[in-house]
Amino acid sequence: MAALLIAYFNPAVAAEEERISRQELEQLAPFPEFYEQMSPEGRLDWLNSQIDQTTTPAQNYNFQRALAFEHFFNYRNSKAQDVCDNNPPLSFDIRYRFACIQVSDLSYEKRIDNFLELYETAIEEDDTPMAARVLTSMGWYQSGKGDIAAAFKSYEEALSMGESLDFFTLNDAMVNTASLYIIHGDKDYIRKGIELHKQSIERIRQRASEDPEFAETSRTAMIIPQFNIGIAYALHTFEYEKALEWFEIINASNTEIPHLKFSSLIFSALSAIEIGRTQLAEQYLARTYDEPAVNNTEFSYLYCYRELVKFKLGQEADLDVCLPLHENVPLEVKIDVYKRISELNDDAIKYAGMEQFYKLFDEKLESQLKQSSTSVASTAELHRLQQESRLRNELLEKEIALKEAQQERREDQIRLVVAIAFILLLLVVITVIRLNQKRRLAEQYEELSVLDVLTGLKNRRFLEQNIGREMSFVKRSQANQDGHALGIYLLDIDHFKYINDTYGHEAGDQILIEFTQRINDTIRDTDLFVRWGGEEFLLVARLDNADGLQVLAERVIQAIKQDSYAAGQGKTVDITCTVGSVVYPCVENPEKHISWNKLVQLADLALYYGKEKQRDCWVCIEKISNYESRNTVLELGFEESLRQGLLTFSTSISKPE
Ligand code: GH3
Ligand code: MG
Ligand code: MG
Repeated sequence: MAALLIAYFNPAVAAEEERISRQELEQLAPFPEFYEQMSPEGRLDWLNSQIDQTTTPAQNYNFQRALAFEHFFNYRNSKAQDVCDNNPPLSFDIRYRFACIQVSDLSYEKRIDNFLELYETAIEEDDTPMAARVLTSMGWYQSGKGDIAAAFKSYEEALSMGESLDFFTLNDAMVNTASLYIIHGDKDYIRKGIELHKQSIERIRQRASEDPEFAETSRTAMIIPQFNIGIAYALHTFEYEKALEWFEIINASNTEIPHLKFSSLIFSALSAIEIGRTQLAEQYLARTYDEPAVNNTEFSYLYCYRELVKFKLGQEADLDVCLPLHENVPLEVKIDVYKRISELNDDAIKYAGMEQFYKLFDEKLESQLKQSSTSVASTAELHRLQQESRLRNELLEKEIALKEAQQERREDQIRLVVAIAFILLLLVVITVIRLNQKRRLAEQYEELSVLDVLTGLKNRRFLEQNIGREMSFVKRSQANQDGHALGIYLLDIDHFKYINDTYGHEAGDQILIEFTQRINDTIRDTDLFVRWGGEEFLLVARLDNADGLQVLAERVIQAIKQDSYAAGQGKTVDITCTVGSVVYPCVENPEKHISWNKLVQLADLALYYGKEKQRDCWVCIEKISNYESRNTVLELGFEESLRQGLLTFSTSISKPE
């Protein structure tokens, strides 16, 4: 049988140790005459029943072998394979060995080795027709593996066996050679290959008309070249209309050649989609699902083509079945598939296809290009090499273009990332600057602010800004003999540290707030009352009569201790404070005015004296001897200054001495 353009026969099992002699086999009785007359099913039944009854290994072997042939001829190749495994061929049993190699599932490499061994046996046995058939089959696998030069050599040798060849072997060798022309040839050789196939069909038809017994077999014999022509048009000349015509013969037949109809339907669908006949393609595609499943690795590419068709039809397709194809898939199919995939409209798939193609080139084609350079066997071979290198260039160009596009995209991405990083950096810088600005603003605000956050009172800064005005007022009124004066009071809460330690800082804060409220309620709106720091407060009040200084001091300490303070958790606490004060002016008819700073220091001196002596009291400096003595008083302290008569004071302390 001629090989299909897309390979179809299966590999083989090597013969093992002789276990039955040739003689034993030859002595066996021939099959009864009715055997040939039975239907295939009848023959199977009969053989199985005989196997059950066999008494000798030779008999068993003989029936099993017949069973394998029965399966083989009826294309039940996997069943034949089982029988071959159970009943391995004897080395001299060339025909059975041949069948078993065909149905095995070995790699091309192994299969070719087995064929070579078988070829040698056939030559030894002087069985030329068998040797030629082996060569023809082997050539097919050699070409499937991509070893075109070796394939041609096998075919040439088979054909050279000339007259001794039977009709089928001759036809096979010619069809296979023609197939090689189509697969690997240039345009002229493809035409020639198609012509040879048509001649083969003609020859079979002729033979059938001469020999009526041959009519049945001829239909099967013709269908392979018919399919091959379809493939030539679909995959090699890309004349899809013509391809469809030839495939239609197979599609309409009820051929039992495994996978042939499935293949034909798939390639019909592919051809239809290539010429934009979507509906037709869909119909063929649908029909492929009625065909039996393909378990054979060599034919696994059929599913890939089906996915390709689906992809081209815009249906959901799983091209992973193509990437890569199984290693047993013929080389030319791989080339066609990867080429088609690398032309698809999807960058990722395209690139994957190219990658596979490139691998193929690296692994197979390139080494063959080199190897073949010394032994270019024919013009077709030369053309093939040229075509391959063209194909390679074409693909390389595409690959380069794609890589360039990818590179560009990558560069774009890098640019984008850099831009984003730059923007982010800018944002960070801006944020930092803003934060710094904010912090500085807060600091400036803090510096400029005249308000105390906790109590809401004005602070020391406010006092510095306003005390000058108050003092000017007094100076003016002194000049006018109005007798206005200022009372400057420093207030300090007694034992406040203890309050904090006992009731907590929070309670301390609340007490500070309450404290300021009580003072505020006691003084006039026009008085300056500021938080001096911590739990110290400064009050500057205009005094409009002689005993005003002491009256206000007394009012303050009374207001503070009048009621107890809330100290959190329902507790209360009594608070007292000590007041130190000085009147301004405190020097009679001064040539110079004491600065407010010194006045506060004097008030502080009085406060310290009050704390020392008693607490919960007020101490008011009413007079210091003269302007010059202000510093002396501050240096000597309250009591020493008293002794030296540098100051006079009044106080609420019960026993001042
Ligand atoms: P005395 O003045 O009677 O000699 O005793 P004191 O315990 O008050 O002593 P001093 O003046 O040295 O201590 C003041 C305490 O006031 C220390 C500090 O913890 C507290 N204080 C200062 N500012 C605040 C504030 O804003 N909130 C609170 N809760 N406590 C403060
Ligand atoms: Mg204090
Ligand atoms: Mg205090």
